Amino acid sequence: MDRNKESAFHGDTPVLFNNKENCCGCSACFAVCPAQAIVMEADEEGFLYPRIIAKKCIRCTRCLAVCSFKADQREKGFLHTTV
Ligand code: SF4
Ligand code: SF4
Repeated sequence: MDRNKESAFHGDTPVLFNNKENCCGCSACFAVCPAQAIVMEADEEGFLYPRIIAKKCIRCTRCLAVCSFKADQREKGFLHTTV
């Protein structure tokens, strides 16, 4: 699948990454989230990756807007954010 065409949302909750190649664990999304809806969790090797707590998410899309890995999707019009 073309990663640029993967959905940025699951339902109406943002998808931060579909595989680890698309996330460096920088925690920018975690830092910018106004609802504390993102937690950073360690994988089996101890590297931290974000997970959205859907019931806390207010769908503001700031996490998608801040992620440098989504820049290519934004430029190609596949990803729309409200901020
Ligand atoms: S901002 Fe993007 S690259 Fe950084 S932790 Fe969040 S999803 Fe991963
Ligand atoms: S859409 Fe907004 S509230 Fe939901 S996880 Fe992203 S930054 Fe947090």
